[in-house]
Formats: sequence, structure tokens, C-alpha cells
Amino acid sequence: MRPKPSLGQNFLKNPGIAEKIAAFSGVEQGDTVLEIGPGKGALTGALLKVASRIVAVEKDDELFELLKKQFSDEPRLTLVHGDVLDLDMSTLISPGTKVVANLPYNIATRVILRLAEVSPPPATVVVMVQKEVAERICAPVGHSEYSALTVLLSGVFLCDPGFVVGPKNFFPEPKVDSRVIRLVPRQNPLPPSEREAYQRVVLCSFAQRRKMLRNSLLGLPGITKQGLSDLARLADIDMQKRPQDLSWEEYARLGRAYRQIITS
Ligand code: SAM
Repeated sequence: MRPKPSLGQNFLKNPGIAEKIAAFSGVEQGDTVLEIGPGKGALTGALLKVASRIVAVEKDDELFELLKKQFSDEPRLTLVHGDVLDLDMSTLISPGTKVVANLPYNIATRVILRLAEVSPPPATVVVMVQKEVAERICAPVGHSEYSALTVLLSGVFLCDPGFVVGPKNFFPEPKVDSRVIRLVPRQNPLPPSEREAYQRVVLCSFAQRRKMLRNSLLGLPGITKQGLSDLARLADIDMQKRPQDLSWEEYARLGRAYRQIITS
């Protein structure tokens, strides 16, 4: 079959890399794994050497049929035919589930943001993404790559930047390097009840990356100039700062203050 670029199909051809990802994922006997986009089963095969159960979601019709045949005598593998973005992640993830995937580039960030919304979150998320996306996800405060994506994920996960995988390990070869990263849930994540206001504040701040918060946060629905100084006081944030200068905890304070202001 011809690989379909529209489905981000770059298949791992180096079994050593599949083994390395499986080892880095920390999956062991007794674990349940969610794999997104099993493709031709390179990573699935490596994970089956240790995992007790794998649920694998594949969108491609041809590959789904191929996988069914390839793993027909493997009772530990449940294949799901569908678009992962159409599925309710919380039905695929139970407490303790580890997510492992070589993600299709075109949907990688959307999938990871969905995974961050599951409560409780997966025990670990080990994913291969474009190197540039990995750099955005793992960027420290103040870094040029520190972005809304970094902050939204930081409220839930700690990021281990893992390792780089070059184009030659795939068929067809992608034009860019990839990186395998590991996301581990924080001990004290942002509570789900605070997520909505947090998201609003983060997205509004980064919508105008070069502006000071005192300018960009005026774009928040319900925030007047007076509201802005209340926000600064309640959250104890210097509004002369720019979005990349705030930690996720500071955004959490802004989110709580914002909620307080618009509900009072
Ligand atoms: N895991 C395989 C490997 O490492 O060789 C394949 C990885 S390939 C980068 C991405 C896989 O995700 C492909 O098999 C593709 O068909 C599948 N895929 C693409 N979009 C998807 C979606 N929305 N839902 C589920 N699977 C998808």
C-alpha cells in the first residue's frame, strides 16, 4: 500500500527505534497501553513483548485490515477502527493506562491536548512528534519556544525531552527530525474545575505574544481597565510582563482571579 501523507504516515522501519521507544515508555508486565496510529505494527510488536493489554486506534481502512490479520492470534491486543479525535479519550484511558504513539504529525498537538484533559490523566504519555513541536512542549519559561501549548500542557504534565530520531529511520522519510518525549503527570496539577478560565487567560495572553499582559489581557471577555488592575492585584502579577515570562502557576493564579472577577 502507498503511504498516505494526509494521515501523517511515516512508518518506522528501524526495529531498534521501536524497541528504544518501548523501553523509554517504561511499559512493563501488568500495564495497559493505548497506542494511537499503530500503522504497520512496528511499535505495537515491540510493546507486546511486555504489555499485558494494548488498545490501538487506527483510522486507515487498509491498515486496520492488515493489522487484524497480522495480530489475529494476539488476545492482548484490541484494535479500534476510527479517528482518535472522534473518540472520547476517557473511554480509552482508565487509571494507570500508559499512552505510547508515533503520532501523525498533522494531529499531534490536538491529540496531546486532548490527553491532558482526561481526568485522571494517563500514567505516562510517550509520543514521537516533530522535533519543533517537542521543543515547544518542553520549553522552559522565557524561552523563545515557550508558547500557549507549553503552558496548557504544563498545568498537567512535566516534560522529559527524551531523544531525537532522524528521518532515515522511517519510510517514507519525513523532511524533519522527530523527537520522542515523555510526559508525566504532576503531583499537584491544575484542578479540572480551573481549566476553562486558565485556558482563556493563556490563549488570550499568547494571542499577542510581543505585547505586555496589560494590553493583551484587555481582550478577555468581561475585563475592563478597572478589571485589569483587579486581576493584577488578585493574582499578584506584574502586568508589564510578556506572556513568555510567566510560569504555569502564575497563569493558574490569573485564571483563578479572572474567574473570581467575572463571577462576582
Ligand atoms: N505506529 C506506526 C509506526 O511507528 O510505524 C505508524 C505511525 S504513523 C506516523 C501514524 C499512524 O497514525 C498511521 O498509521 C496513520 O494511518 C494513523 N492515523 C492518522 N490519523 C489518525 C487518526 N486521526 N486516528 C487514528 N489513527 C490515525
